[in-house]
Amino acid sequence: MAKTHDIAIIGGGLAGLTFACLAGQDKRLDIICLDQAPPAQNNDLRTTAISYGSRKILEEAGIWKNLSTVPCPIEEIKILDGDSPLLLDFLREEADGKIFGWIVENSDLKNAMMKTLAAFKNVEHRAPVKVKDFSVDEKTASAILDSGEIISAKLIVGADGRNSFTREWMDVPVRTRNYKQRAIVFTAAHENPHGNIAVEHFRPEGPFAILPMADAEDGTHRSSVVFTEHGPEKNSFMRLNDADFNAELSRRFPENYGRVEMTGRRAAHPLSLTHAASYIAPRMALIADAAHAIHPVAGQGLNLGFRDVAALAGLVEATDDPGAPDLLENYQQARRFDNMSMVAVTDGLVRLFSNNRPGSRYLRRTGLKIVAKIPAAKRFFIRRAMGDTGADRG
Ligand SMILES: Cc1cc2nc3c(=O)[nH]c(=O)nc-3n(C[C@H](O)[C@H](O)[C@H](O)COP(=O)(O)OP(=O)(O)OC[C@H]3O[C@@H](n4cnc5c(N)ncnc54)[C@H](O)[C@@H]3O)c2cc1C
Repeated sequence: MAKTHDIAIIGGGLAGLTFACLAGQDKRLDIICLDQAPPAQNNDLRTTAISYGSRKILEEAGIWKNLSTVPCPIEEIKILDGDSPLLLDFLREEADGKIFGWIVENSDLKNAMMKTLAAFKNVEHRAPVKVKDFSVDEKTASAILDSGEIISAKLIVGADGRNSFTREWMDVPVRTRNYKQRAIVFTAAHENPHGNIAVEHFRPEGPFAILPMADAEDGTHRSSVVFTEHGPEKNSFMRLNDADFNAELSRRFPENYGRVEMTGRRAAHPLSLTHAASYIAPRMALIADAAHAIHPVAGQGLNLGFRDVAALAGLVEATDDPGAPDLLENYQQARRFDNMSMVAVTDGLVRLFSNNRPGSRYLRRTGLKIVAKIPAAKRFFIRRAMGDTGADRG
């Protein structure tokens, strides 16, 4: 008879792998992580703005020390709206001298996670294998692979991203919104240093973000760019040749960066909101994008996901039955409010900022001016930008 694992993780993306590394610290737990992508596939061009809380989770999981590139600290955040001058400037001094977070390359994060995982004897990573069905009984849940093989565990963790098959199988209602925007992501090289400043420029077609990266080995100054567009795909900036794309890029970059051009490839991500009405079902739990996928406007999607990871890993530690009903209820209760409030904040921001209607323009400029003048309001946004409550800042 095939063995029953303690936990089977469906999806070895950044959330699933982090959960494997964190929960796997409890050496009594027998964990398997299943992913449909080949293990060497690592082609995510995005970067992630890592908050203090997320860094702590990555440190505890043993991942942070395995990063091979230097995470770039964010020391200032500038917010611009349309063609109006700078509206809000968050300075390090206003955050008690603390930096706002770190920009890390997703490909480097994944490498560090795979390297960390390789040292675990109690965690198996199996890829490429696709889960195509499940079955559940009172004591176990089973994932049925497309090869026909059955993997059984006391708990199935759905970490299979925004189009989660696990969530679909659980048949929970899902709130969705299609923003009809695409985020084109790539790395830009620029003539002058960025000064560790992150820029968020709200434009009617969606936010244009410039996120500081560490200089390349040859000293090239670099930033990661999220270039949001809307409209039909046939008019997408993805279709421009590099020269025309770079011309559009130069028009959008602030002058102080000097000459600017895209390096390497660009990739487009359609932007939508999905939020599952329940994160749990008998013997099953959803984490990260499988439970809630949000607009990247505030750079908080994975940070939220890491908080799910930490909450569930904390609960399964030192338990005999990681899929027990009360444990799953506790997980859902621990994560619901934080996720719901971030879903509401990001959805509101996108709807208020991604249009040029005079009412919205007036509202956001007045709102931002008020925030700029009231230190307590500014501190609230600084904490949000840092992706935590401030309680766990080191
Ligand atoms: C443009 C952009 C910028 C972003 N910037 C930030 C940021 O700065 N900060 C931040 O916190 N967040 C950011 N995010 C959000 C962040 O990227 C996501 O929250 C995060 O990548 C989700 O990780 P995940 O592991 O949950 O899902 P995924 O990365 O989607 O991983 C899911 C995994 O499941 C596997 N899988 C799927 N189905 C199956 C199946 N049936 N069987 C087996 N395996 C399966 C897939 O192969 C994949 O490896 C951004 C998002 C976008 C789009």
